[in-house]
Amino acid sequence: MPYSCGRCRADYDRYLHRKLTSAMDFSLSDDQRAIRDGVGAVVRKFDDAYWLARDEDGEFPREFHRAMAEAGWLGITLPPQYGGAGLGLIEAAILMHEVASHGGGMAAASSVHINLFGPHPIVVFGTGEQKARWLPRLARGEDQVAFGFTEPDAGLNTTAIKTFARKVDGGYVVHGQKVWTSTAQVASKIMLLTRTTRLEDCARPTDGITIFYTDLDRSRIGVQRIAKMGRKAVDSNALFIDGLFIPEADRIGEEGQGFGYILHSLNPERLLIGAEAIAIGQDALRRATKYAAERVVFGRPIGQNQGIQHPLAERWMALEAAWAMVMKGAWLYDRQQPCGAEANAAKFLGARAGFESCQQAVLTLGGFGYAKEYHVERLLREVMITRLAPVSEQMILSFIAEKVLDLPKSY
Ligand SMILES: Cc1cc2nc3c(=O)[nH]c(=O)nc-3n(C[C@H](O)[C@H](O)[C@H](O)COP(=O)(O)OP(=O)(O)OC[C@H]3O[C@@H](n4cnc5c(N)ncnc54)[C@H](O)[C@@H]3O)c2cc1C
Repeated sequence: MPYSCGRCRADYDRYLHRKLTSAMDFSLSDDQRAIRDGVGAVVRKFDDAYWLARDEDGEFPREFHRAMAEAGWLGITLPPQYGGAGLGLIEAAILMHEVASHGGGMAAASSVHINLFGPHPIVVFGTGEQKARWLPRLARGEDQVAFGFTEPDAGLNTTAIKTFARKVDGGYVVHGQKVWTSTAQVASKIMLLTRTTRLEDCARPTDGITIFYTDLDRSRIGVQRIAKMGRKAVDSNALFIDGLFIPEADRIGEEGQGFGYILHSLNPERLLIGAEAIAIGQDALRRATKYAAERVVFGRPIGQNQGIQHPLAERWMALEAAWAMVMKGAWLYDRQQPCGAEANAAKFLGARAGFESCQQAVLTLGGFGYAKEYHVERLLREVMITRLAPVSEQMILSFIAEKVLDLPKSY
């Protein structure tokens, strides 16, 4: 467009800006496609038999974790100067979707998920020395980190935690308990949420919480495995912390500010859990559709019956809609725009859609849906956790009611 004065130029710039920012693009870029295909190439080396065996023996999928680390996928969201690729949440969601798409379910996802945004408090609030000391080892898969946030007497009410870090010369001494800590059987490090001021002495419940990243010292932390329904290969544990010394150099940011720091990784985590649940649901849907097309009863494929087709078609729609919400939330996050409502909605919708798809897959296969060799019963057990953790459906509904619909806080 020709322009000869500053005014015309400004108008043209505004026009161009409107045109560009109003454009909607649902396609993956070449780089994003390369991530999906590259991750897929690693993930597809681990077949159903591998994941069924891990479901039975409960062994951490070390070979899978190592293969992902060697291919460089563990550090994609970490800053480039610390061994990462500095990519955003859309790329991380594409990665985690691919990881959970091929039979590994949450066992595959949870073995690598923590690396993506779990270390975010370090990235944002850690010192240069801490980042250099910790992040490259995480990117290379040399360290594995467990997250010790949840406590038995606090549950979802995080500010009610009681694990206490008492200030001593050169650091802190910690006593307390954690529960549901994933990967503590194999982790070398722990990100630990503590109180440094008791709740009753704080002006606000979110005050007085301090976060550490330190060695998981088994001489001071008792780790007791919890037997559970699914995701058997990635252990869950009760932790008993008795006099753990943590040097001051392992404290992230300022004392008492830890609650604000962990908020930085909550929205990404919710979006990624949503992506993982959707992937598991789509995996189950593919298996159910294939079975429905092949299984012949009453002289016709069962998939020719609308009673079989329609629920599967509905599950497809729900999964696609949830994926659109994941992408919207990730898009907002990557542009540093508020995304709390979308991240919570994506986690809720993804988990529901994933769960209902796995359940429908079991029902579609009939008796064989219950047999281990068809894998959909395992996927159903795997996907269940996405409805429960890291935040429950009730808490998400309360959050949306309060923050989006402006209704009174209910909890
Ligand atoms: C497999 C697995 C792995 C996990 N990994 C980790 C980990 O690595 N690190 C970690 O720190 N934590 C982890 N967790 C913990 C998880 O993030 C949840 O925080 C935890 O399971 C919830 O705590 P709770 O079971 O004590 O629930 P509770 O707080 O006891 O809640 C129980 C139920 O009551 C409902 N409820 C409670 N209060 C209200 C209210 N006011 N209104 C409506 N409903 C309410 C909840 O929504 C929930 O459905 C994991 C959990 C699981 C199952």
